[in-house]
Amino acid sequence: MSDRLNLLDLTREEMVDFFKEIDEKPFRAPQVFKWLHQFVADDFEQMTNISKALKVKLSEICDIKGPEIISEQLSDDGTIKWALKNGDGQAIETVFIPDGERGTLCISSQVGCALDCSFCSTAQQGFNRNLSTAEIVGQVWLAARRIGALRTTGKRRISNVVFMGMGEPLLNYDAVVKACDILLDDFGYGLSKRRVTISTSGVVPGLNKLIDKADVALALSLHAPNNELRDELVPINKKYPIEVLLPSVKQYLDDSKASKKVTIEYVMLRGVNDTAAHARELCRLLKDIPCKINLIPFNPFPQTQYQTSTQKDIDKFGDIMIKKGFVVVTRRTRGDDIDAACGQLVGQVNDRTRREERKLRKMEKIEVKTLH
Ligand code: SAH
Repeated sequence: MSDRLNLLDLTREEMVDFFKEIDEKPFRAPQVFKWLHQFVADDFEQMTNISKALKVKLSEICDIKGPEIISEQLSDDGTIKWALKNGDGQAIETVFIPDGERGTLCISSQVGCALDCSFCSTAQQGFNRNLSTAEIVGQVWLAARRIGALRTTGKRRISNVVFMGMGEPLLNYDAVVKACDILLDDFGYGLSKRRVTISTSGVVPGLNKLIDKADVALALSLHAPNNELRDELVPINKKYPIEVLLPSVKQYLDDSKASKKVTIEYVMLRGVNDTAAHARELCRLLKDIPCKINLIPFNPFPQTQYQTSTQKDIDKFGDIMIKKGFVVVTRRTRGDDIDAACGQLVGQVNDRTRREERKLRKMEKIEVKTLH
């Protein structure tokens, strides 16, 4: 790795300190910061309000280094998936999901994941390493370069950022919190607090730390209404069981200025967690938690033991919760023709394997169809 400073790694405050260190006027820092994140510049030459001397000085000691694109795939529904690498060759994935006026960018926080959730394909590759702030912000920077940033197009193509790609954001706490700072900064991406979401499988110490730090929206990957089933699906539950996790979530909501509701993510696994009894149990469990429920049809991958719930069961599950007063949304599967759906992000699979996987999945789909 290069020892030159990558400016994408710095919050605005850190950039001010850096400019003081190199004997430059602090007010230059927000100017450069704007060039990086609002105009998504990749070259000091583009920074027209910066003096020649400062440009030369900066280019001698630092870089503007985003990720490299390994592949870019466009789905029929407009979803774009990038496989990206960051110098060491390890791949991560970033997905852009357009939906009318809204554009959600789903970003990764780690290469691989250590949590081993039984229904997630990222888990199968295991944990490789944490991403740096530059590598996290770099995904937004790169996507904005590809599809247009606010300052360059006049349109906010990326209106929402969710930490729902690879990895567990709260196990890469410092880098993720700094990245959020840059995403929310008015001189940076200027995103609203409500539109940046950290999704966690329930890392309680990280969540407790986040309470007085990042002011962003929260999503919780709950997936089960009791400890017995959750231990099986989301093994970190053995360490931080539901009765420890939910009070911590509640505390976060009480203190957060970003959102007073947590999004509960619940993957629908046929015959495993999708019965009427599970729905009723979930209503009881969440009765005191301000939340909205996001039902996610399971996205299958090769060799998985699970199947997607039927639409009928998903509807029934949702209806039970709606009758009890919950707000329930069923997440549409997006970009599944390019393996960009939740839990399908596996960075290290090479092209040939991926092609084979896709074929396999097509075959699975045909089989499922003929069953009905
Ligand atoms: N580690 C964090 C961030 C990942 S978010 C977390 O667990 O919240 C990705 C979301 O997609 C999570 O809710 C995850 O549980 C869900 N998911 C994972 N695999 C899936 C699959 N195969 N089908 C549908 N959803 C899946």
